[in-house]
Amino acid sequence: MHSQTLNDPLFFETGGLAGDFAAPARMGIYVHVPFCPHICPYCDFVKTSRFSRKDIAAYFSGLEKQFDSFAKLVPQDISDVTLYFGGGTPSLFPAGYFSAIVEKISSRFRIGEFTVETNPFSNSEKIFREWQMLGVNRVTLGVQSLEPAVLGYLGRKHTPDDVLKNLEAVRSAGIGQVQTDLIFGVKNLPEQRTITNEIVRLEQGGATGVSCYLLTIEESTPFAHEFNSSDETIESEYQDILSACAALGFAQYETSNFSRHAPVHNRLYWYGLPYLGLGTGAHGLLPATENHPFGRRYKVGPPVLKRTAGDDELPFSTAAESLFSTDFYEGNRTREMALQELLLTLLRTREGLPLRWLKAVFEDAVLSRFWSDPRVRRALDSGQFEMNTTHLKLSAPERLRGDAWSLLVASLLCP
Ligand code: SF4
Repeated sequence: MHSQTLNDPLFFETGGLAGDFAAPARMGIYVHVPFCPHICPYCDFVKTSRFSRKDIAAYFSGLEKQFDSFAKLVPQDISDVTLYFGGGTPSLFPAGYFSAIVEKISSRFRIGEFTVETNPFSNSEKIFREWQMLGVNRVTLGVQSLEPAVLGYLGRKHTPDDVLKNLEAVRSAGIGQVQTDLIFGVKNLPEQRTITNEIVRLEQGGATGVSCYLLTIEESTPFAHEFNSSDETIESEYQDILSACAALGFAQYETSNFSRHAPVHNRLYWYGLPYLGLGTGAHGLLPATENHPFGRRYKVGPPVLKRTAGDDELPFSTAAESLFSTDFYEGNRTREMALQELLLTLLRTREGLPLRWLKAVFEDAVLSRFWSDPRVRRALDSGQFEMNTTHLKLSAPERLRGDAWSLLVASLLCP
């Protein structure tokens, strides 16, 4: 047992665990597009609303070069990938801007799930048709809320009506999946928000899933001095989300993800599988090789990007090439590092931790300490942890605290 490499697909096969970790694609490709029509005050992604036509042209050609150099590092037997354009606001640009890079990727890989992140403020019906013709079969729509007061507080420029028109446009363009993003835990606003109604309205408009994210207050944003609603409100909103999604047939795949369709690209992140990250601000995990049996993590972009509240500029003119520099920040990725990460992400999924996998990768003494820990025992007794014959998982309401539980589990299994 304990000697296989974690990120090597053989690990799953030799451990008899291929079924638990099986994915329709063996690798993902994430392309970061850092341009936005405006800056939302809570957002700490790498993005800018200040750019010229020249910047855009240079950026897209930089993406192509970066793909060429990373594609050489991918073992030949990896042929099926998912493709995800995120940002930023990729949908700011007609699909023609992306055709060269998509063509390059398709000449080396077979693309399955193909997602583009879109912003209801900047989309048009024409854009969705173009994206569909490029091969896009899934979009995410940055709805955040259907309440005007919440949208205003979050600094979003779109209206609830824009959202509904977008849903209609996605459907008439023939794109089968539209995952809508919502933000909850927004502090009390004059108008009382009912997230259940928003989810129902989105589903009636054609959404095939929702991703519900708790508002995160980031220090490097103008929202640094804001705060979330109370813990009780957050808890009750999350419970409402669980009930609304269950009633609509949106299965919960992960703490934040509810859908009629099993997500493929995101699942690669949750299951510790490799993905290429292209473009400034992207992170990646290169596939395992003989020299790097646990893959290699990296980050693209200048080592220190200016991250002050309201920052809205990327260094296009002065250091364009540094936007594509690669930093292998982890050094040599070890089995322990890979295991810790996997424990953190797996516990947030609806399946949880496969028991056979735990047995295959941890020493008996470590496991017996884990099972006898009083906090684990209490969580099992109280129903916060649920266990069946194959998996240990968090109960649905406890997934809201998935990160804290994951840290506890990782500290016990990887001390
Ligand atoms: S939330 Fe989206 S649209 Fe707003 S600034 Fe961030 S990346 Fe751009």
